[in-house]
Order: sequence, then C-alpha cells, then structure tokens
Amino acid sequence: MSAVSDIRIPDEIKPVDGRFGSGPSKVRPEGVESLSAVSRTFLGTSHRQKTVKDQVARLRRGLGDFFAMPDGYEVVIANGGTSAFWEVATFGLIRDRAQFAEFGEFGAKFAKAVADAPFLSEPTVHRAPGGQAAYLAAEKGVDAYATVQNETSTGVAVPVRRVAGSDEGALLLTDATSGGGSLDVDLRETDVYYLAPQKALGSDGGLWMALMSPAAIERAFEIKASGRYIPQFLDLVTAIEQSRLEQTYNTPALATVFLAAEQLDWMNAQGGLAWAVKRSAESAAAIYGWADKSSFATPFVTDPALRSAAVATIDFDESIDAAQLATILRANGIVDTEPYRKLGRNQLRIALYPTVEPSDVTALTAAIDYVAERLS
Ligand SMILES: *Cc1c(COP(=O)(O)O)cnc(C)c1O
Repeated sequence: MSAVSDIRIPDEIKPVDGRFGSGPSKVRPEGVESLSAVSRTFLGTSHRQKTVKDQVARLRRGLGDFFAMPDGYEVVIANGGTSAFWEVATFGLIRDRAQFAEFGEFGAKFAKAVADAPFLSEPTVHRAPGGQAAYLAAEKGVDAYATVQNETSTGVAVPVRRVAGSDEGALLLTDATSGGGSLDVDLRETDVYYLAPQKALGSDGGLWMALMSPAAIERAFEIKASGRYIPQFLDLVTAIEQSRLEQTYNTPALATVFLAAEQLDWMNAQGGLAWAVKRSAESAAAIYGWADKSSFATPFVTDPALRSAAVATIDFDESIDAAQLATILRANGIVDTEPYRKLGRNQLRIALYPTVEPSDVTALTAAIDYVAERLS
C-alpha cells in the first residue's frame, strides 16, 4: 500500500471543478465574475437604495419565475439562514400544534425548536432512522405540518405533497433548503417552501427565502394580531412587509443577494426548474449507477425511490476507509465529500446540485476508483 500522501490523481481523470460540498456548495466562477464587475457600484452601498433593492427584486422575481409561483404566493426574504427561519416559523406560523416528519438532523432541529417553545403544545413527531423516510399523516387539531424535501444529512428525498385529510386551513411547511432547485416541486402542494442560498442556488449563506401561500401569509398576520410575544428579529410579518419593499429588516450580505439573483437568472435562462431537475437527475444517475456496479461502494439509501438527486450518500465496505479516501481526495483538490458528521458512517456525501457539472460527477467516480485501487 502506498503512503496516503503519495497518491496523486492524474489531472486527466480529475473533475474540472473539485467542489462537491452539500453546503456551502460550489459557486459558479461566472457568478463571481459578474459580482466583481459591479464591485465598485454595488458592494459597500446602502441596502435602502435602488442599486441594492434592484438586486433584491431580481432575486425575488427570479425565485418566483424559477418555481412557477402560483398567483397570490409571495417571496419573503430575511437574514439568518434556514436555522433562523425555523425560529421565525415557531413564533409566527404555528398556532398551537404542529406535526413533524423527522428523518435526519435538519428535520430534527425544527422539531426541537417547536418542542422547546413554551407557548406551543407538544408536537407530534413521526421518526424514521437515517436512510429511510418518515411521513406526515392527518391528525385532528394539528394546524401546521412540517417535513423536509431533501434530508441533507442522509440523502433521502421525498415528494412535496399535501397531507390528505388534514384539518381545513392546516399549513404545510416544506424545508427545501437543499432540495429546492434540484428536485421537482408544484408549489400548490405546500404553503411554505423555504430554502437558503448556499445549496442548490449556488450562492453564499446567510439568508432565508420562503415562497409563501396566501394561507401562510394570512396565518402570520393572524398570529401577530393575537398579541403573542415575537422577537423583532424573528417577526415574520416584518419580513413580509420588508420583502414587499424589496429590502430586509436588517443589513443583508450584499454578495449573497447578488450571487443568488445571478444564479437564478442563469438557471432560468437554461430552462428553469425543469432543466435543473434534469441536470441533477443526470448527476444522480452517474453516481448511483457507478455505486450499484462498484464492488466496494453502495448507495446508503436502499430504497431507490428515496435516493436523492440533490445529495448522494455512498457507503463503502470495510476494504475502504471513507475518511481516508476523503482526505486523499481533498489533498488532490476534490473537497467536501465528507459525510454528515453525526451520521457516523463509512461514507462519502456528494452534492448533485445543478451548479455541479454531471461530467464532473462522472469524473469524481473515476477519481474514487483510482484512489480505491491504491488503498485496498
Ligand atoms: C443546510 C440545511 C439547513 C440549514 O441551513 P442554514 O442556512 O445553514 O441554517 C436546514 N435544512 C436543510 C435541509 C439543510 O440542508
């Protein structure tokens, strides 16, 4: 066995771009160049003036177009990323009782925020172990259902669908942080489709973005009017009202806004969501197809219908130490293939977002084969 540090993957088989992180994820160099071109007129200028508000407007419009937003839905944007949105929703969207489908770390975090809130009833949580999916089921008295479209910690994806038989007016909140932009969605099937820019949208972190139905917007105003204590920073009504003015309550990261707007324009020009879904599916076919054939790698998610086309998780047998493999890949410029820490598996995790070239995913499999041959 050669020393790990000696393994040099030949340039001819390496991906052109070695970024496979599930978030932060690859940012297109073209987007950074566009940002650079406006660096003196946009960066470092007031978010209350037209130059920046125009970019916020471009971002909101781009999201609406990309996701074919139905009439009456609105794009709401604020600071803090998806983690902040969970608190926003806890204060501003759940009237009393929520139900969660929890099948990974991200779904668990939102469920915990709600369970910890002293002003809400104990939520119902349907749980499934890592690699499987949990599902929502109609329950009397539940006014908000919450699930994850793509569980980034495990690589399990589920369709976005309303809960059959749920109470009149109950909301469905879908965490699309990593699924949104890679996986198909019909927004009429959910009330809140929320995401963050550092995953499939190929921008930087720091914002949350929610596409909200009229019923969800109405709920936010209803809860606010009830007099519930809501911290100003987490006030959804403030976020809705500020977004309508093409701004955020407090200062946003201007580069994040610009890169996300740029990415959406790019994806919309390529053919929008249908194009993005097809491209991620192509990358998924490459990685899962390779793993199915491999003698030492297998897809972690055993049910092919649940295998995510946004984030692939690949298990390795005992002949390969995946952590060592990831270290060698990293030394060769192929980065962020490490699995989600808490899952604790002998695994690699690979983002298949539309920003990633499918040909680079194929090249990655060749690079893994090259290293594996020298490790086992
Ligand atoms: C990354 C991620 C989050 C957390 O997003 P932040 O913007 O870092 O708070 C939440 N949910 C899912 C599904 C994610 O992939």
